[in-house]
Amino acid sequence: MNKRWVYLFLPLKRGIFLLSIIVVLVITGCAQNGAPSAVDEPEQQTEQDASQEPTNEPSNEEEKQGEASHELEEQQEEPQDEQQEGGDQNKQSDIPTAGNGSSEANRNVPDFTTPDSILVLVNKERPLPADYKPADLVEPNVPFSFAEKVEKRLMRAEAARALERLFAASEEEGLSLYAVSGFRSYERQEAIFAYNASLHGEEKANQFSARPGQSEHQTGLAMDVSSPAVQFDLIEEFANTPEGKWLAENAARFGFIIRYPKDKTEITQYQYEPWHLRYVGIEAALEMAEQNLTLEEYYNLFHNQ
Ligand SMILES: [Zn+2]
Repeated sequence: MNKRWVYLFLPLKRGIFLLSIIVVLVITGCAQNGAPSAVDEPEQQTEQDASQEPTNEPSNEEEKQGEASHELEEQQEEPQDEQQEGGDQNKQSDIPTAGNGSSEANRNVPDFTTPDSILVLVNKERPLPADYKPADLVEPNVPFSFAEKVEKRLMRAEAARALERLFAASEEEGLSLYAVSGFRSYERQEAIFAYNASLHGEEKANQFSARPGQSEHQTGLAMDVSSPAVQFDLIEEFANTPEGKWLAENAARFGFIIRYPKDKTEITQYQYEPWHLRYVGIEAALEMAEQNLTLEEYYNLFHNQ
């Protein structure tokens, strides 16, 4: 009987022994896993720091852009607090909504400075470089008010496709829009301004004609449009034509804004131009239309805090 008990206990003892070895191994294993993680953390931090530094530094465009990205970084950290405060600071709480939610905020940090950016802000204070010419100019498949195959038919590819969609939609409404003037090189703008200045004097010319580098037409994102109702002229009366009215109502759906509105001439520093379409992309265009903002005011939304 006793011997039998011994035989029963022997495997049990071995089992306990093996179990204790396993327990020891597991504990030391955990300790090994735990220890390096303490070492990893600082490494990860330095990696993050390293990756943050370049993103701050290579803003090789302008200081202002650096400020923009900096401001947005700060704003992204704050919105939660602001929401809890009940949105006292309306302007600031507007900015995260400009990004359509925090997950998309990074994607939507607007670039107003790079000449190739869809949202580039060009005006009398922010001229384009004399040598800037878009690399992706194409001719949109829309009716033109002239027959010549000249560079003013051209637009940047994305804007050209959007213009085609806008024209197609207007045709479905029975309207007859015509493209009048698109891309304009620095040199051509130089000649146009010199011509206008010779006729009207430089000061007067500056109110309706851009100096070289200050014209949106050099971006390849602008197109002047008109209709037979006003003999394809670029005149204020175009705003009262069915085409002009439809544009004011619908251009934003296709990513365009009426760049120089009637009630914003002090901000844009240009007279009312109901014919001048500027492509900015659908999201920004809809937002500007909803809030009645010029491109300058849209820029200020992100920069004047
Ligand atoms: Zn124009």
